[in-house]
Amino acid sequence: MLLLTSVLKYTKAQKLTHEERRIVHNVNKKMPHTIQLLKELVNINSGTLNIEGVKKVGEVLGKQFESIGFTTTWVTLPDSLKRAGHLVAYKKGHRGKKLFLIGHLDTVFEPDMPANPYRKLNDTTATGQGANDMKGGDLVILAALQALQSAGLLKDVSITAYFTGDEEKTGIPIEVSRADFIERAKQSDIALGFEGAQGLNTVATARRGASGWKLKVYGKQGHSGGIFSNGYGAIYEAARIINTFREELSEEQYLTFNPGVFVGGSEVVYDSANMRADVSGKTNIISPSAIVQGDLRFLTDKQKEAARAKMKTIALTNNLAGTRAEILFTDNIPGMEPTEGNNRLLKVLSKVTADLGFGPTKAGDPGSRGAGDISYIAKYVDCLDGLGASGRGAHAPGETINLAEFPQLIQRAALLIYRLTR
Ligand SMILES: [Zn+2]
Repeated sequence: MLLLTSVLKYTKAQKLTHEERRIVHNVNKKMPHTIQLLKELVNINSGTLNIEGVKKVGEVLGKQFESIGFTTTWVTLPDSLKRAGHLVAYKKGHRGKKLFLIGHLDTVFEPDMPANPYRKLNDTTATGQGANDMKGGDLVILAALQALQSAGLLKDVSITAYFTGDEEKTGIPIEVSRADFIERAKQSDIALGFEGAQGLNTVATARRGASGWKLKVYGKQGHSGGIFSNGYGAIYEAARIINTFREELSEEQYLTFNPGVFVGGSEVVYDSANMRADVSGKTNIISPSAIVQGDLRFLTDKQKEAARAKMKTIALTNNLAGTRAEILFTDNIPGMEPTEGNNRLLKVLSKVTADLGFGPTKAGDPGSRGAGDISYIAKYVDCLDGLGASGRGAHAPGETINLAEFPQLIQRAALLIYRLTR
């Protein structure tokens, strides 16, 4: 009997509190407004380089935050970066954990690409530029906070909602375009990223980082007839190196490297910023020059450094006769490493989804995600990402949002924010 009582108690504790039921109710009540706002935001083109469009999205979103008691500010960037800047909406208090919520205003769709105005494809699916990535995610943040506000549950909490204007094509140098972002995140305890969700029961506790490399190979120019006796030339050697990278490193979990451009010949003028080349050569001339440029994606710094060391060894040793090579590495976005702190957040979220009746939440495969803004701050605060809207085909024309899961994902976010700020 005693056992039965405690089981019952436990079951009861699993359910939502009175306040939490109100939050869920508020989310549902507001859905028509949320969908209307989604339509409005999707129909404003905000390709990263469309500065006016990105600002316009920030303006619409900023007003919504102000109406629920947030202070907003626009972070400007130097003109040389050619980016719109970022929207920050914040509220300071003393209750619970200090949260840093991450969205972005821009999309990959520039104004010269075919337009795709918001439209419903069926009862549960809509399409439109950024519907999922990530105007839908931005609205998960807003609608969750609106639901908490209407229930009077935002009093004295500390929340910063940060919407970058250049997530899809980050302004260079990154130390400038992300300086304010990193500074504000450091003042928080927890960062929650609202990039695309993979259903109701998955979240990202880790994301891969991205970096670059450039291989330059030199050979001795000469008559093609002497290629196997006088020196193999730059093209054979570059091919050997790239193929050896694949043979020796392609089995490692979470590690990928993709040669994006491969050029070689007698005359090679290469513009690495734009990845363009002017190349010429002759079939009867052994190529003196080859260049390959690619990316390198990794989960941890340790993995990145180990891969670089191996690639360097492959490029600099056992070169084919008459050739030599050099390889340069560049940092881009750090990885969001799987940490204890991130796993603790996963447990809180898993209880939220279980209590909502959606079932528990698991960590997704870090290999299935690219790098994102949250990665810049992952070493300073505990992080979760993938809390946004769900859908298909992000970055592709015809991207869709799942409207059936949308309210549930907002409920999930609202309860997570609520529990973390108590
Ligand atoms: Zn995104």
